[in-house]
Amino acid sequence: MFKKILIANRGEIALRIIRACKELGIETVAVYSEADDQSLHVQLADGAICIGPAPSNESYLRAERIIAAAEIADVDAIHPGYGFLSEDPDFAEQCEECKIKFIGPNSEAIRQMGDKAVARETVSAAGVPTVPGSDGIVKDPDEALEVAAQLGYPVIIKAVAGGGGRGMRLAHNEVTFKKEFSAASIEAEKAFGNGDVYIEKFIEDPRHIEFQILADEQGNVIHLGERDCSIQRRHQKVVEESPSPFLTEDMRQEMGKAAVKAAKACNYTNAGTIEFLVDKHRNYYFIEMNTRIQVEHPVTEEVTGMDLIKEQLRIASGEPLNMSQSDVVLKGHAIEVRICAENPGMNFAPSPGEISLYYPPGGHGIRVDSHIYGGYTVPKYYDSMIAKVITFGRDRKIALSRMNRALDEYLIRGIFTNISFARSVINDPEFVRGNFTTGFIEEFMQRTPKTLFQSKLDR
Ligand code: ADP
Repeated sequence: MFKKILIANRGEIALRIIRACKELGIETVAVYSEADDQSLHVQLADGAICIGPAPSNESYLRAERIIAAAEIADVDAIHPGYGFLSEDPDFAEQCEECKIKFIGPNSEAIRQMGDKAVARETVSAAGVPTVPGSDGIVKDPDEALEVAAQLGYPVIIKAVAGGGGRGMRLAHNEVTFKKEFSAASIEAEKAFGNGDVYIEKFIEDPRHIEFQILADEQGNVIHLGERDCSIQRRHQKVVEESPSPFLTEDMRQEMGKAAVKAAKACNYTNAGTIEFLVDKHRNYYFIEMNTRIQVEHPVTEEVTGMDLIKEQLRIASGEPLNMSQSDVVLKGHAIEVRICAENPGMNFAPSPGEISLYYPPGGHGIRVDSHIYGGYTVPKYYDSMIAKVITFGRDRKIALSRMNRALDEYLIRGIFTNISFARSVINDPEFVRGNFTTGFIEEFMQRTPKTLFQSKLDR
């Protein structure tokens, strides 16, 4: 096992990794920007190195500074967390060249699955169903128009390098397609430095159901069941749960096998996620692979009893998986709500600032993964997610009632948050029934009085 690792991230995931390392007796080195010197990850790590000014592109996204910090601190490995450099194949490659173990798959697998068009081809060749779409990237507008007509509208134009819900454009007919197609590639070039796009059939009212996989460096791959992440706002997940209220055991088995096939198709190692859309006829289609730990990994931890960060560390240090597929037992139900510093009453505008009073929920079956505390100032520079509340129970009803209680107890003063908004979502009768698709939030917002989202700013 590693003796010392560097954590190339911030916020709750940096803390989450520190916690796993402490329990395994691994020393930790944090890196931080000038805006994060009061951050808990800096205080709780065994050592910390400042890597630059507040903006991410001058700190957390600077591979050379992070590698230099790793060399100075003389660590064995780097855990990239999620976001930032976690899916940057060049960063993983630089770690490989410097003989610092990147805790994740190798750079080749990241490159292959990071290009969404190549990922589609790779898993499709392995027999995993993908959303009907173009054969790889499409450059020529006339050819694109032909592909779209063949697929039938509506279609989605997607950036091969897209992520985080960005880089997708919907077209309902030929006229909008022409406009969206040229805008999509210009926008993708600007946002991701790569203007290549591909086309997919738009699946109406799908559920987003993803499978967690673990793959060791000896070639063993298992899946840990699914997470239903259909509750999304602007293609970004808000609530996640496991198991999915929609899947039958037969579908779970079949999709799990497909997820393992997809991972094997790129010789994947470490933890990863295979994302699928499932249509109302229960057909499932691969959409992409995330080659890193996910924000929503705790729901899988709660239903499997496993610690996924520890698994990542063990796999990266060369240990084989200590279980086979038949040893994986899913028990109970877990739900996660992402808590963000944002104002739902102002179109979810970010709400950074000082937290004047903080009281997190607790008690049986409640877990809060967060880096905030009373007196902490949420910086304006980074993602607005400030906490994750995860509740667990014997069944969905119990997990949901705990979530309701947890959100009711959660006190964050001084900034706006989405807590009341999230509470109205999880209390919606359709949500309670488990009857929802990726269009849920949009539809919910249309039929719900705006005053319900108006969170008060308590000082
Ligand atoms: P990102 O990498 O930005 O997360 P994804 O390809 O994973 O993008 O898609 C994110 C979300 O966008 C999905 O969960 C789904 O809600 C929606 N989406 C993506 N592709 C399609 C599609 N072909 N049809 C309908 N919805 C889609």
